[in-house]
Amino acid sequence: MSPIELNKRQEDILVIVKENGPITGEQIAERLHLTRSTLRPDLAILTMAGFLDARPRVGYFYSGKKTGQAVTDSMMKMKVRDFQSIPVVVSENMTVYDAIVHMFLEDVGTLFVVDKNAYLTGVLSRKDLLRTSLGQQDLNKVPVNIIMTRMPNITYCFRNDALIHAAKKLIDKQIDALPVVKEHSDGYEVIGRLTKTNITGAFLSLAENHDL
Ligand code: ADP
Repeated sequence: MSPIELNKRQEDILVIVKENGPITGEQIAERLHLTRSTLRPDLAILTMAGFLDARPRVGYFYSGKKTGQAVTDSMMKMKVRDFQSIPVVVSENMTVYDAIVHMFLEDVGTLFVVDKNAYLTGVLSRKDLLRTSLGQQDLNKVPVNIIMTRMPNITYCFRNDALIHAAKKLIDKQIDALPVVKEHSDGYEVIGRLTKTNITGAFLSLAENHDL
């Protein structure tokens, strides 16, 4: 919310500058059928309040300060739960061969491995499976729990976490996905999947919601 109440003419000026900037005071006046001197106080207010920037011999352009603040506010309000996907889980004794087929059929890049209580025990990435396929083992005989990244080395998040914190975990750990978990006294139930694609989607929705 802007602390300054803009009048109708000032709002009109903002629209003109947003759409046409950089634009001179003379040109803005022309569009509004007013004189340059009539506009001078309005332009001064808009410039001082940080809505517009003025450059000598270039003209006025929209500084985007107000939009910038609004985008920041929306970004901080985004939660994992608003962008997470459905998790794809497999059991610990599934073979590597079946896990590869599963990954293709489910069209995901990361599988989460769960125990018989449906609690998270491991993560399987595309390269984990590729690496195993390059070896000499029979993929029908190797269970995924031999090759998965396992607890407690799994990075996870909760549905109510700020999306930006989850995004930071993905980047810091250089991984493609986080399991979204619910904590129980004896383990973590997998309730979602948060991927780099979800973060890209959130980035785009931010731009769309703010007409960027
Ligand atoms: P890829 O290996 O296909 O590039 P990732 O970058 O996601 O995919 O995975 C890199 C490594 O990190 C893999 O060995 C994988 O098991 C592991 N990994 C993936 N996601 C996680 C996670 N959420 N927590 C811990 N380790 C993970």
